[in-house]
Amino acid sequence: MAENRRDLVLAGLEPLIITPTSVFVNIGERTNVTGSRKFLRLIKEEKYDEALDIARQQVEGGAQIIDINMDEGMLDGVYAMTKFLNLIASEPDISRVPIMIDSSKWEIIEAGLKVVQGKSVVNSISLKEGEEAFIHHAKLIKRYGAAAIIMAFDEVGQADNFERRVEICQRSYDILVDKVGFPPQDIIFDLNIFPVATGMEEHRLNALDFFRGTKWVRDNLPHAHISGGVSNVSFSFRGNDHVREAMHSVFLYHAIQNGMTMGIVNPEMLSIYDDIPKDLLEHVEDVILNRRDDATERLLDFAENVKGEVKSDEKAIQEWRLGTVQERITHSLVKGVDAFIEEDVEEARLAAVKPIEVIEINLMTGMNVVGDLFGSGKMFLPQVVKSARVMKKAVAYLLPYIEASKQAGDKSGNGKILMATVKGDVHDIGKNIVSVVLACNNYEIVDLGVMVPPEKIIAAAIEHNVDIIGLSGLITPSLDEMVYLAKELDKQGIKIPIMIGGATTSRAHTAVKIAPQYRETVIHVNDASRAVTVAGNLLDHNRKIYASDIRADYDAFRETFLNRSRDKNFLTIEQARKNKLQLDWAEYTPTKPKVIGKQIVEVDLDVLVPYIDWTPFFRTWELFGKYPAILTDEVVGEEATSVFADAQEMLKVILAEKKLTAKGIYGIFPANQIDDDDIELRDENGKVLEKFLTLRQQSQKTKGAPNIALSDFILPKDSGITDYIGAFCVTTGFGVDEWAAEFEKDLDDYNSIMVKALADRFAEAFAEYLHEKVRQDFWGYDPQESLSTEDLIEENYKGIRPAPGYPACPDHLEKPTIWKLLNVDKEIGVTLTESMAMWPASSVSGYYFGNPKSKYFGLGKIKEDQVVDYAKRRNVSTDYAMKWLNPNIAD
Ligand code: SAH
Repeated sequence: MAENRRDLVLAGLEPLIITPTSVFVNIGERTNVTGSRKFLRLIKEEKYDEALDIARQQVEGGAQIIDINMDEGMLDGVYAMTKFLNLIASEPDISRVPIMIDSSKWEIIEAGLKVVQGKSVVNSISLKEGEEAFIHHAKLIKRYGAAAIIMAFDEVGQADNFERRVEICQRSYDILVDKVGFPPQDIIFDLNIFPVATGMEEHRLNALDFFRGTKWVRDNLPHAHISGGVSNVSFSFRGNDHVREAMHSVFLYHAIQNGMTMGIVNPEMLSIYDDIPKDLLEHVEDVILNRRDDATERLLDFAENVKGEVKSDEKAIQEWRLGTVQERITHSLVKGVDAFIEEDVEEARLAAVKPIEVIEINLMTGMNVVGDLFGSGKMFLPQVVKSARVMKKAVAYLLPYIEASKQAGDKSGNGKILMATVKGDVHDIGKNIVSVVLACNNYEIVDLGVMVPPEKIIAAAIEHNVDIIGLSGLITPSLDEMVYLAKELDKQGIKIPIMIGGATTSRAHTAVKIAPQYRETVIHVNDASRAVTVAGNLLDHNRKIYASDIRADYDAFRETFLNRSRDKNFLTIEQARKNKLQLDWAEYTPTKPKVIGKQIVEVDLDVLVPYIDWTPFFRTWELFGKYPAILTDEVVGEEATSVFADAQEMLKVILAEKKLTAKGIYGIFPANQIDDDDIELRDENGKVLEKFLTLRQQSQKTKGAPNIALSDFILPKDSGITDYIGAFCVTTGFGVDEWAAEFEKDLDDYNSIMVKALADRFAEAFAEYLHEKVRQDFWGYDPQESLSTEDLIEENYKGIRPAPGYPACPDHLEKPTIWKLLNVDKEIGVTLTESMAMWPASSVSGYYFGNPKSKYFGLGKIKEDQVVDYAKRRNVSTDYAMKWLNPNIAD
C-alpha cells in the first residue's frame, strides 16, 4: 500500500492513518477526569483496574483514539498520567489505538510523552502563553515523535470568529512548519466549537464560522487536520437530548463536508443524520446554518413539543406497530416493551418453517441490536434487563411449539455458562445481572443459585457440559472458596475456563491467587457489560490466543504485584502496640446508656424511607453518580430517572402490602480495652460476657502517625473508668427470596433484581435509623444531634458503626461473638453461614463506638506474628486463624 507521506499516521499497537478523505475519526472522551465523574472517582481511589475497563469499553465501543486527561486539583496528575499510560501499555485490547495525552499542564503532557507507546497526539498547545513557550513545547513534542492539537488561541484570547481563526491558525502553522520544522500533517487544529441558539446575537454565526474556518484551513494550510469537541454546540439545549443529538449530527454532517476529520463525540449523543425527522432536521439546520432570523425561537418552541411528545404520542406508538414483524420484534426488545411480543412472535412462528427459527432468527436479530447498543454504551443495564424480560416471555411462549415439533435444537446459541455464588456466600444481585446480560446474548445459563458447594459446581459443570464457569462472591472468605475450586478443577483435569466476579474479587486476587492454581483460563470480570465480550472471546475460534494473552497478562501482573508488595516495612505486633493511638482520656467522659443489655427493635418501613441512601441503588444497576444529581446527569440521567421511578412504584407496594419486615436488635454494654487489642464486655454487675478481638495496623507509619486498632477508641481497663460499646444486627430480608422467586417464575428478572436491591436499601436505612436512635436516645451520648439525610449519609455524626468484614475490622469471626452476645439467631432469626455471611442477605451488623474521636480506617496488611498472637487470644489453631485472616496477611 503506497501511503501518502503527508498523511497523518498515528499508532497504538496498530496504525491509524488519517487522510483528508478518511471517514470521521471518533475520539473517546470517557477517560477524562474533568468530563467523567466515574473515571475521576476511580482514579482518586486508585481503582486503576476499573479505570482501564472504561478505556477498554471506549475502544470496544468504537473509539479510534482515546483522550486521557488527569487534570484535577486533588490528583497528582503526573503520577496518574504515568501510571495509567503504563497500565494501558500492557492491555493490548486498549493500546491498539493511539492515545491522546490531554492536559493543560505541560509537565503532565511531558510525563505522558515519556511513557506512551506508539505515536500519540498531544492535546494541546497554543500561542496562549506566547511564541517562546509554544516553540519550546512544539520542539519537544516533535522530538518525542507525537502529533499535536493546536488550539486556536493566542496571547489575546480564543478565536471566536472566522477572521481570528484564520489569523491564529496561519500564524501557528507558519511558526510550526518554518521555525520548528514540525511535520505539517502532524498539526491538528482545534478550531473551538461554540454553542449556537443561545439567544445572543453574536453566537448566531458560531457554527458557520467553524465550518468556514475548517474549509479555510483545509484550503490554505496544506496537510493540517481539524478537530473539536462537538457537544459544546448544543450547550443551550441541556436536558433535551433528543434535540441535542440531532444538533450534533447536523453539525458533524456539515463540519465533515467542510473538512473536519476527527473530533470528540459522545456516541450516545448522536442520532443518525438520515433518521432525524424532517421537521426537527429543518429547525436544527435553520439554527446551525443561521438560515432564519427567528431560527432559535422556532427551535425552542419546537423542542418543547419534542420533549412532551416522546412518551405520550399515540401516533408514534401506532406507527411502530406498522413495521414488519422483525421490526416490531426488534422494537419490543430494544424498548423492553412486552405488550405485543406474544402476538408478534406468534405471527413470526406462523411464517416460519420451524418454531425454533423464531428464536434463532427473529429474536436473536433483535437481541443483537440490544447487545450492540449496550456494548457501545448507548444503552444501559436496566434497559437491557428489561429487554431480557421480553426475550424470556417470547421464548416461554414458543417453547411448547418447539417441543411439540420435536426439533432437536439442543445445541443452539453461543454456549452454556454455569453461574454460582460460592459456598458460604448468599449474595446474588451481581451474579443475576451478569446471567441476564449473558442470556440476552444467547448464552444458555445454568444458574445454581447461592451457597453452592464446590462438589456441586463441579458435578453440574460436567453434567451440563458447560463452556464456562462463572463464580461470584461478595465477602472475603469467598475468595478462598474460589481458589479452592480452581485447585479442585485442576486436580480433576477439567478444562473449562472460569470467570470471576463479585464485590471483593479483583484482578489482583484473580491473577495472584486463583490463576496459578488452574491450567485453564481464569479471568476477572466485574462488569456486566464486559461479561459478554469476555465470554465471546473465551469461546471464539481465536480463544487459544486470547487465553494465552490473559495468562501472560496475569503472569506479568503477578510478578510486579509480588515485587511491589514485598518492599513494604512492617512493625512487629509488639512495636505496633507501643505505637498505638493514645487518646487524651482526660477530655472524655463516657455516657452511661439508658438501658444496659440488649433490646429488640421493630419499626415500620415507612419510617425508614427517609433514611435510604439512593446512591448505591444506582450503582447496583451500573449507573454511576450521586443521587439526586444522577437523575439529571447528562449521560445516564434518563435511565436513572426511569429505574428510580420503577423503584418508587415497587416501594409503594412494599409499604402498602407490608412486603418486607424490619427486625433489629442492639445492645450496649460496659466495656474496656484490655491487653491493648481486646475489648472486654460486661453486664451491669460486672460479670464478663464476651471479648471483642480487634486487629492492629502493622505497617510502618510516617513519623507521629499511630498504628490503630478499634480497641484504641475504648478506655483502657486500668483507667478504672467504665466505658461502653454497642453491637447490633438489623434485617429487612425475610420474604425477599420468595418474592423474588415469584418474579422469576414470571420470567421477570428486572423486578426480581429490583426487590433485592430495595431490600438492601432498607437494611442499610434501618442501620442508619437505629444508629441515630442509639446516639440520640438509647445510649443518648448526643441527645441534641439533629442531622439531615445528607449529613447521615456523609456520616457527620459522633461515633462510628464499623462492620466486621470491612476495612477497620476485616475479621469475619467477630460476627459469631456478636451473635452470641445478642442471641441474634433466636431473637430475630438472622443466621450466619459457614463463611460468616449473614442470611437473609439484606442484613447489616456491626459495633457502636460512641467516642467522638473514633473514626473509620483501614487495617492494611498484617504479619504472621499478629496472626499467631490472635490465634492464641481466640483460642483457635494458627492454621484456622490464617485461613480467616488470609486476605489481610502481607506476602
Ligand atoms: N449509606 C450507605 C451506608 C453503608 S456504607 C448505604 O446505604 O449503603 C457505610 C458503612 O460501612 C458504615 O456505616 C460502616 O458500617 C461500614 N464501614 C465503612 N468503612 C468502614 C471501615 N473502614 N471499617 C469498618 N466498617 C466500615
